[in-house]
Amino acid sequence: MQEKIITCTECPMGCSVTVTLDGERVINVVGNTCPRGKTYAINEVSCPRRVVTTTVKTDKGNPLAVKTDGSIKKSEIFNVMKIINGITVKTPIKIGDVIYENISEDINLVASDEIE
Ligand code: SF4
Repeated sequence: MQEKIITCTECPMGCSVTVTLDGERVINVVGNTCPRGKTYAINEVSCPRRVVTTTVKTDKGNPLAVKTDGSIKKSEIFNVMKIINGITVKTPIKIGDVIYENISEDINLVASDEIE
């Protein structure tokens, strides 16, 4: 048996959730104040995911803020950042424009700012 303590980031309360594992099997989850915390903690120990927020180069020289439109596997972030670092975006760009389609699984990289 192994215990992992996860801080739930689903809301500002930041509950400390303890997950008990038998190998890779979840045996028990305690400390969550609501069901979202249980789901979050189980995902964190089995397949953690993150929304990536960063910037990409543009043809105008100033960086453009971008983010993934969903969470990607934490193990994929290095590969995704390699792709992002190789991108130069042609302006103009509006908020929500897709910068890179299917950057990981079905997740797109989208603009979170605009440049005229
Ligand atoms: S367990 Fe529920 S109340 Fe606690 S931080 Fe997570 S979402 Fe918020």
